[in-house]
Order: sequence, then C-alpha cells, then structure tokens
Amino acid sequence: MRCRLCQQPAGWFRRSCPTCDRLAAIVEQHRGAGFGAILDRLMASGASRPQVEAFLTADPDGRGCARDRIAADMTNELMNALGQTGRQSAADVKRARERGQWVGYDQPPRT
Ligand SMILES: [Zn+2]
Repeated sequence: MRCRLCQQPAGWFRRSCPTCDRLAAIVEQHRGAGFGAILDRLMASGASRPQVEAFLTADPDGRGCARDRIAADMTNELMNALGQTGRQSAADVKRARERGQWVGYDQPPRT
C-alpha cells in the first residue's frame, strides 16, 4: 500500500509510512506552536524537504491538510488568548484559503 500522505510505499496494511507517522506525531506534540517553529522541528526530524512538503499539503480525506490544521490551531490559540470562544477547524481554514482570503499567513518563513 502507498502512504496516503506522501504516496511513498508504506508497507502492508499501513495507511501512512513511518516518516509521515513521525511528522504527524511532531505536529501533534507542538499543537499551538507557530508554523515556523513546527516546520523547524519537521525539518530536524530527518525527513527530506520534499517529504515534509508532501506531508504538509496532503489532504487525503478532504478535511484540510496538515498546514491547514496548524493554521487552525494557531488561530484558536490566538482567539483563546483574546477571550473568544469560537473555534476554527482545519476545514474552515481550507475554505478560507481556497477563497483566497489568506495571504501568506501559513507560508513557511523565507530563509
Ligand atoms: Zn508518507
């Protein structure tokens, strides 16, 4: 079977490959951290840049890619800090992104 995130061979009965599993665990561990900080951790995990990019932009179930989830977490942290109770999901971010309302907010920092 192929990894549903990066399309690399994943092994029998696996929906994702060990590398994507590792990247997903890093994202989960650092929920609410800034996108740049999470990207640094992902790059430090030993995965190649193309694999990190593939992981971040894959959206196998149509509910938003990892990058959208990170952006949603950042937004929710911010809203909590401001005393707001609304919650954004990755799907909300995906819709906003597709409507073109996001300008570079979720882009990796230039180096
Ligand atoms: Zn993978």
